[in-house]
Amino acid sequence: MVTLAAAAVLPAVLPALLLSGCGKAGTPPPKGPQPSALPSYQVATGTPVSGSPTLDAARGRGHLVVGAKEDQPYLGQKNPATGEYSGFDIEIAKMVAADLGFGPDRIEFKTIASANRETALQNGQVDYYVGTYTINDNRKKLVGFAGPYFLAGQSLLVRRNNKDINGPEDLDGRKVCSAAGSTPYQRIQKQYPKAKLIGYDTYSACVDNLITSQVDAVTTDNTILLGYAAKVPDELKVVGPLFSQEPYGIGTPKNDTVLRAALNDALAHHEQNGDWRKAFDATLGLSGEPAPAPPPIDRY
Ligand code: GLU
Repeated sequence: MVTLAAAAVLPAVLPALLLSGCGKAGTPPPKGPQPSALPSYQVATGTPVSGSPTLDAARGRGHLVVGAKEDQPYLGQKNPATGEYSGFDIEIAKMVAADLGFGPDRIEFKTIASANRETALQNGQVDYYVGTYTINDNRKKLVGFAGPYFLAGQSLLVRRNNKDINGPEDLDGRKVCSAAGSTPYQRIQKQYPKAKLIGYDTYSACVDNLITSQVDAVTTDNTILLGYAAKVPDELKVVGPLFSQEPYGIGTPKNDTVLRAALNDALAHHEQNGDWRKAFDATLGLSGEPAPAPPPIDRY
C-alpha cells in the first residue's frame, strides 16, 4: 500500500533513481569504473614515513581514515549496496596510501561535504581528504594541501532543452544551485550577485532539483558536472566556457608537514610510473574527458 507519507517522498526519490540510471526506460546503463581496468598499487612495507603525527595515529589505529565525496560520478561515488567507494579521487587516495604503507583494505573512507572539510581535518576526523578539493590561500590558512593532482574549472549544467543559459553572464534572475562552502558557490555570490543562488550540502541534491525544474542551472567544477551529464545525457548538458581554475589538492592537517611532503612524493611517484594516467582513463576519462598531463606539484 502506498501511504500518503510515501507518496510525498516520491518526487524526491525519483530523480535520485534517474541519476543512478535505473529509473528510466531507454536510458543505457551508466558506464562506471571497471575494476579490471584499475591499476593496483604496490604497498610500501615497514614504516616508509616517520615523524608524521597523523600517520603515527593511523598506524596505532590500524588503518587510515580518508575523507571523500560519495555522490560525484567518476570522482568519488559510494556503492549503496556494498559501501565501496570508487572514482578518480578514490584512486588518488589509494595510490598515495600505498606509499605510506596502507593497502586498500586498510583505508576507511568517510563522506564529508564541501562545507565541512576544513573542520574535519582540523578535528582529526580524517587523516587526509581527497574530493575535488580546490587549493586556495584562504583554505591554506586552515589546512595543508599536497598536489595539485588535477586542474578543473567552474562550469554550468542545465536541462538539455535549455537554450538561454550559455555562460555565467546569463544567470541574472535565474535560480542557480551549488554546494555551500564551495569555491563555485562563493564565486557566484561575489561576481554574479544578480543570480538567485541556492546552496545545498551536495551537488546531487542540486541536480535532482535541476531535473525537476526547481532550479535553472547547477554550477561547480566541469569534472563533477560532466559526470552527472554522462549519467543522463538525454536530460542534462554542460554548457559554456570554464570560468575559473580549480586545482585539486589532497587536504591535510595544517601542521603535519611531514605528511604533506610524503603525499607530494607519492603523487610524483605515481604520475611518473603511469598509475595516475591508468587511474584517470578507468574513471574520470569515462565521462568524456581526454587525459591531460598532470599539473606540476607545488611544494610550498
Ligand atoms: N573544487 C571546488 C571546491 O573545492 C568545488 C567542488 C567541491 O565543492 O568539492 O570548492
